[in-house]
Amino acid sequence: MLNYATGGNPNCKILLITIAPAVFPQALAELAASGAGKAPLLSVGSMADALAESRAHPLALVILWAQAEDAVAAVEALAATVPILVLAPPTGAAEFPVAACYQAGAADVLAAGLAPYALAGKIARFVEMAQRRLEQAGAERELRDARGRLHSTAAAAGLAMWSWDIVRDRVSADSAMRFLFGIGDDNSAGNPVAAYLDAIHPDDSARAQADIDRALAAGGAYESAVRVLAADGSYHHIVSRGEVLMGPDGKPAVLRGAVRDVSKARAAQHALDAAQERYRTLFEAVDQGVCIIEMIWDDQGAPVDYRFIEVNQAFVRHTGLSNAVGKTVLEMVPGHDPVWMKLYGGIARTGAPVRYESDSAGAINRWFDVYAIRVGGAGSNLVAVLFSDISERKHAQFELERLAADLTEANRRKNEFIATLAHELRNPLAPLRSGLPLLRLAADDAATRTRVLATMERQLDHMVGLVDDLLDVGRISHGRIALKEAALDLSDVVKAAVDAVRPAIDARGHRLLVSIEGAAVDIDAIGTAGPPWPVSGDTTRLVQVLNNLLDNAAKYTPQPGVLRLDMRRDGGDAVIAVSDNGAGIAAADLDEVFKVFNQVGRQRFPGAGGLGIGLSLVRSLVELHGGTVSAASAGPGLGSTFTVRLPLMAAAAPPETHAPASHSQRGHAVRVLVVDDNSDAADTLAQLLDLLGHRTQVAHSGAEALEAMQDFRPQVVLLDLGMPEMDGYQVAEAIRNNRRFDQPLLAALTGWGGEQDREQTRAAGFDLHLTKPVDLAVIEKLLKEV
Ligand code: ADP
Repeated sequence: MLNYATGGNPNCKILLITIAPAVFPQALAELAASGAGKAPLLSVGSMADALAESRAHPLALVILWAQAEDAVAAVEALAATVPILVLAPPTGAAEFPVAACYQAGAADVLAAGLAPYALAGKIARFVEMAQRRLEQAGAERELRDARGRLHSTAAAAGLAMWSWDIVRDRVSADSAMRFLFGIGDDNSAGNPVAAYLDAIHPDDSARAQADIDRALAAGGAYESAVRVLAADGSYHHIVSRGEVLMGPDGKPAVLRGAVRDVSKARAAQHALDAAQERYRTLFEAVDQGVCIIEMIWDDQGAPVDYRFIEVNQAFVRHTGLSNAVGKTVLEMVPGHDPVWMKLYGGIARTGAPVRYESDSAGAINRWFDVYAIRVGGAGSNLVAVLFSDISERKHAQFELERLAADLTEANRRKNEFIATLAHELRNPLAPLRSGLPLLRLAADDAATRTRVLATMERQLDHMVGLVDDLLDVGRISHGRIALKEAALDLSDVVKAAVDAVRPAIDARGHRLLVSIEGAAVDIDAIGTAGPPWPVSGDTTRLVQVLNNLLDNAAKYTPQPGVLRLDMRRDGGDAVIAVSDNGAGIAAADLDEVFKVFNQVGRQRFPGAGGLGIGLSLVRSLVELHGGTVSAASAGPGLGSTFTVRLPLMAAAAPPETHAPASHSQRGHAVRVLVVDDNSDAADTLAQLLDLLGHRTQVAHSGAEALEAMQDFRPQVVLLDLGMPEMDGYQVAEAIRNNRRFDQPLLAALTGWGGEQDREQTRAAGFDLHLTKPVDLAVIEKLLKEV
């Protein structure tokens, strides 16, 4: 039985061509029978099939059973690619072209008539040879494949292979190895190890040599990490690992191994290190507090705590929590509000970031803008919490809100004030308006005239007082009020104030009790006895302060009430308390009453009058004098006390004496030009001056005034500032610049009395600056000096 099973290439066949008729030798019959249907024996009956099969399969052997006339052609057709064993059939053996078959390339020609066992043996040997060839080819191919696989694996792993035959000093290396060491040719004989050592970076070569020496000496594993100049002209970082194999003589024979190019890994590591470094730098540099936390859940999956994984310096600064990393928040802050676990747990679960403002990062009165976001994808337990201190912005915002509220309140008070102002101005206007027809009608009734005139004068004074107060408030709020300070005796101030409000107090049926150092003093005797009360101040303003307090006491006390003024010394201060037993003030309003336009008790005390600016003026004026004022009251209906405290001067200075100007004294006649576009104002003033015995002329415009300068040649010009076309400043300049005019005394008449306004009139050439309505006494005094 023939055994023609082949190893190696399973596609490689043995082809049995039987194109000779007649007797089929036993050996062939056995061969065909045993191979029928079994690879790799193919059996065909024609040359056409044989050629088709030879094209379809690689063939290991062809056994040809052919007639003499077919044999040579069949051999020629196939001999180039496959060994052919030709069997000559017994019929026509003599003519069989044995020699021609050999010439055509047959491997052997077996003569007909061979004993069957010999034929079978020959065939079997040929088949065996073919089989061996096939097996050898298969083994070689496998070796090649294994090598190929090894190289592919090594290449895929980034490994280059090498082996150094130490005895022959030849290094065989794969192409990757040769590339790394810049060895160009594939020298199959290999290169000496020096060629490889030459490629090593000069700084590393000593170490490389030492690594080799150590391995050879110890005979074990070898490892070295160096830089080599590769074929691409750049240095690559490599790690070389291998082993020493000993020869039969017990000496190192071979050192072989693999090299890994770690340049990319190192570059990646460097990039990673740099990124990590950048991250740390940024992490620490930002003002924002940053922490990475890891959520901790209970068995039911509810967030119950969190652990600090990473925190930056700003975190410590903002929260005051140091050494937090590794600890849980409940370890750091026992009782920490579970609302935070819930919030951060929600973020870890949903991945939806959250931004919010919080005032509870541990610091008192500090605000934080917090942004929390999950780190990593779904299923991550980590949350990054970033927060910045926005306390300043928050406080500014609160301040702004407070200011807005204040402004709204101020606006409300202003609106109330305007309504009050209209009301308060109308009050004195009513008796003035009705007084005029009364005067006309009662022209002959002297008593009525006197009474009506007194009323009108009082109302006018009241109106002037209101307007003065208003102007004062304006000046104070613009910081334009200037005290005319002088050394004075405070008891004179008290006397003047008491005198001024006495009519109002009497009119309301109140009683005023005055005491000095606890001893009752007769009102008329104030300032006449006892030591002086030296104060540095502005008499008018201090009288105004006490006037206001006394006037309020009278206004806010139901009649008949008792008002008190107590003056005493306290340390270096003079203390004046003005009290009443009237409306009183609720505790909450005690400071409010000093705010401008604030009329806290107005509803409770209708008809009291006033603009709500008196006490604000009082406080400002007292403070300008270096003093203080405060209000006290036991409550509504229980009376009030306003206490003024002023510093006394150390040494008593001679007080100023005030000589009130006399309205009745008549001086010499002066030529006065009154210039005002308001003819009523101009005419009444001119008439008054006429009555006082002066000569007057009225001009209603700048042009008229300049005309009058020539004709009338005034000694004094009372010049209104606000006039159309040519205003007072221009008129003054025209007068001062005209040499032909006798230069008169120029007095500005204006509603504006601030320091800047005075400055401006002075610059325009005015000698005097008088505010409207001008006190007649002032003009009289002025005319007397001309
Ligand atoms: P006005 O008197 O014009 O309203 P003030 O500034 O003088 O303005 O006073 C402010 C508020 O203080 C008054 O509206 C009143 O409610 C309260 N007030 C002032 N003085 C007294 C007082 N002696 N008794 C009770 N309330 C007073």
